[in-house]
Amino acid sequence: MAEKIAMKADGTLAVPEEPIIPFIEGDGTGVDIWPAAKLVLDAAAKKHGHRISWKEVLAGEKAFTETGNWLPDETISVFKEYLIGIKGPLTTPVGGGFRSLNVALRQILDLYVCLRPVRWFKGVPSPVKRPDQVDMVIFRENTEDIYAGLEVQEGTPEAKRMIEMLHDEFGWDIRSDSGIGIKPISESGSKRLIRAAIQYAIERDRKSVTMVHKGNIQKFTEGAFRGWGYDLVREEFANVAVGWDDCDGKPGDKILVKDNIADITLQQVLTRPTDFDVIATTNLNGDYISDALAAQVGGIGIAPGANINYVTGHGIFEATHGTAPKYAGQDKVNPGSVLLSGVLMFEHLGWQAAADDIVRALEATIADKVVTYDFARQMEGATEVKTSEFASAVVDRL
Ligand code: NAP
Repeated sequence: MAEKIAMKADGTLAVPEEPIIPFIEGDGTGVDIWPAAKLVLDAAAKKHGHRISWKEVLAGEKAFTETGNWLPDETISVFKEYLIGIKGPLTTPVGGGFRSLNVALRQILDLYVCLRPVRWFKGVPSPVKRPDQVDMVIFRENTEDIYAGLEVQEGTPEAKRMIEMLHDEFGWDIRSDSGIGIKPISESGSKRLIRAAIQYAIERDRKSVTMVHKGNIQKFTEGAFRGWGYDLVREEFANVAVGWDDCDGKPGDKILVKDNIADITLQQVLTRPTDFDVIATTNLNGDYISDALAAQVGGIGIAPGANINYVTGHGIFEATHGTAPKYAGQDKVNPGSVLLSGVLMFEHLGWQAAADDIVRALEATIADKVVTYDFARQMEGATEVKTSEFASAVVDRL
């Protein structure tokens, strides 16, 4: 019988045999990649004795056409009620009252972690020599930083007022032709993000958590993020983790929590990727690092992502690319991103064997050089297949 996923008193998920999982098909190429991903997810679930009762909810263009609303209240209440969902890419409506539907979903459900695992899948064309050395999991803060949307435009009365106030009350001289953005970073927001990263490292037997920040310049935001992280290790994780300064870099059998400046990090993930394992970082740094790392493993078109609130249990797993409108409806693009987001969702639900099976079958398909156009153009001797054919090829190898 199909049932809801629920949150248990101990803060873990109670996943029924046949969970009801809401999905948003997505705009543009969503019509191509979602059915393909669903085919593989259903087949892998079945093989391992699970079943999913999919429940479609609307957002984006399909929602606007059918309801006149880009993000219907019904969609929000279904995600609230069923806890875990998955989505394809969504068009950002121009003048629709939203900065982005994705950002709106994250904010309404307070999905404070943007989770991006980055690893290489055997056979995927990559621009670096040793993509196999990349195996990192990024925890990007999802609700604060310059993404809070607190900005005033240059030349407006609001900007003028703010510049005057900052001059009069703080003695700060800001050029009169400036736009201004506010960057809030809170102790509670930082700690819940870093807590989630450390807990993940504990559960997955990871060796280190690196806090990436720009604290040498932005002392009371990025620098404070770093400081709160080390405090948290001492306050809550002293028996399983240790900060670099508290062990001189020698953690014994504990998880090492260390920190790195953001600009150096972007060099070192290239030059010595094995130094990095779990990464916990602020919103903007996380945005840059996730895309840079995805490129390193050739995975821009197949990188998975999730937005999670570990306290309420809410999570939305999502394709990380956009709607690629020029390819919409052509059964052409790679379904890997939404499929691997489904794999991430299976792992989150505790369906590890089914998740592992999909990854193995996906790797086998790519190793046989059966790929969609994006990989085919970078691989010699590849057989280019359609989105739906690629999904069938993965199912054949499950
Ligand atoms: P995009 O849709 O990600 O497409 C950019 C390029 O990425 C495509 O032209 C294609 O490259 C490649 N690509 C994207 N999806 C692919 C797939 N499944 N398989 C293979 N290659 C893929 O970015 P955009 O054109 O800047 O944005 C289009 C719309 O998507 C906008 O409305 C934007 O707001 C929205 N968007 C949504 C999300 C989201 O929902 N999470 C994220 C980003 C953007 P080639 O042309 O080289 O083949």
